[in-house]
Amino acid sequence: MKEFYDIVIVGSGAAGLSCALKLNPDYDICLISKKSMAEANSYLAQGGISAKLAHENLDDYIEDTLKAGHYENDVDVVRAILDESLDVVEELTGYGVNFDKLDPDTYSLHKEGGHRSARVYHVGDFTGRSMCEVMAERVKARPNIDTCENTTFYDLIIEDNKAVGIRVFVDGLYKNIYARAVVLATGGIGGIFNSSTNYKSVSGEALSIAMKYGVEVSNLEYIQIHPTVLYDKAMGRHSLITEALRGEGGILLGINGDRFIDELLPRDVVSKAIRKKMEEDQTDHVYLSLENIRDRERIDERFPTVFQACMDKGIDIRKDMIPVCPGQHYHMGGIRAQIDGRTSLPGLYAIGETSCTGLHGRNRLASNSLLEACFCGMKCGEGLNASLPDFKAHMEENRETRNIDDIIADYHKILVDTIKERNHDFYEYWLKNEDA
Ligand SMILES: Cc1cc2nc3c(=O)[nH]c(=O)nc-3n(C[C@H](O)[C@H](O)[C@H](O)COP(=O)(O)OP(=O)(O)OC[C@H]3O[C@@H](n4cnc5c(N)ncnc54)[C@H](O)[C@@H]3O)c2cc1C
Repeated sequence: MKEFYDIVIVGSGAAGLSCALKLNPDYDICLISKKSMAEANSYLAQGGISAKLAHENLDDYIEDTLKAGHYENDVDVVRAILDESLDVVEELTGYGVNFDKLDPDTYSLHKEGGHRSARVYHVGDFTGRSMCEVMAERVKARPNIDTCENTTFYDLIIEDNKAVGIRVFVDGLYKNIYARAVVLATGGIGGIFNSSTNYKSVSGEALSIAMKYGVEVSNLEYIQIHPTVLYDKAMGRHSLITEALRGEGGILLGINGDRFIDELLPRDVVSKAIRKKMEEDQTDHVYLSLENIRDRERIDERFPTVFQACMDKGIDIRKDMIPVCPGQHYHMGGIRAQIDGRTSLPGLYAIGETSCTGLHGRNRLASNSLLEACFCGMKCGEGLNASLPDFKAHMEENRETRNIDDIIADYHKILVDTIKERNHDFYEYWLKNEDA
């Protein structure tokens, strides 16, 4: 790790990787991650990445996205991203991602909740891992990119109202990294919840840091609860039971075996219905029945990730029902950013889940987030190729004395308090009893 780079990217998920790969190979780049590069939520994405169908009217996809977002989306942003969604898939294919096919000329597309058509490209049920492994391999092969793992970003360096670098904690030391552009690709906030599908290390401190410097943020109170997380009494990261299972015919049943909701309604609607059902039945889970799914005996081949996660808990999805409950999954809000990552602070860029571009509105349509992460990552890279800020930083030694865990805990508290203030109902319902 050097002291000065052209660009520093914080985050090794789909957003950070796709940005890094777009950047000119003559830029000096540093890409950091809090833990290993693979400990990013992008690697956990099962369902896939959504794209406009070649023959479909773009307005249909736009309408599905707006409907899921309760029409609070930015329509221009929605149109811009969805219009180029197929290009993103082609770019990924060009990198070497092998999305599943039915035959050499036809992709196998999934249908997910809120989509009127099957638009979701996937690689088995480990799409995110496939995409990121392919991209990470290319990033690691670039001599102009230093990848720094186990490096915690804990502050921005701001001079003359411009971002000129970041402060990090690595190998027990506090360091400054100066850069002409700082790209935050730090993902969501699930780590502040006890029951979440997210990695604990992806916990949203970048948002609090941005707020500390008055960078514009929006919709922080819009947090998606996934309807079907594998029920587990233990706290910590909970396995996601992909929506694609409901898309293929899986149905939700109360503990008494009664069906209570159309399973393919948007996530927020289904989550609330499950919560209500659990309250009525005085229980802490419902069941996902896979009885109606075609080729059920071969379901382990089509959904190996879910199969393994359930098997680890003694549930054989080829014959058993899956106990599920809602859990925190995705953050629609974030650092206000243009689709090329520009924020209200010169020199600072935000892409992927940590940003809020306006694509999702109040609620994200399934599989639109990998799309947004890759699209905005790529656009951010292109934008920085076209013009890289040229701020001169005044370099100085990092004299931080506080404990890193305390610094991060303070940021989490600010985030929780902000959510509580902006959406008290959400706080009471889903966050109050968490150990944030
Ligand atoms: C279980 C699961 C399944 C999903 N399935 C799908 C799906 O099928 N389709 C879809 O579109 N979306 C899906 N999503 C959502 C999607 O995966 C994420 O929204 C998206 O991958 C976010 O990408 P990202 O690059 O913005 O962030 P992430 O991939 O989460 O990466 C965040 C990075 O930031 C780093 N970081 C964070 N804070 C710091 C810090 N302080 N210092 C240093 N580094 C830091 C982390 O180490 C990590 O490298 C799923 C999410 C989960 C959890």
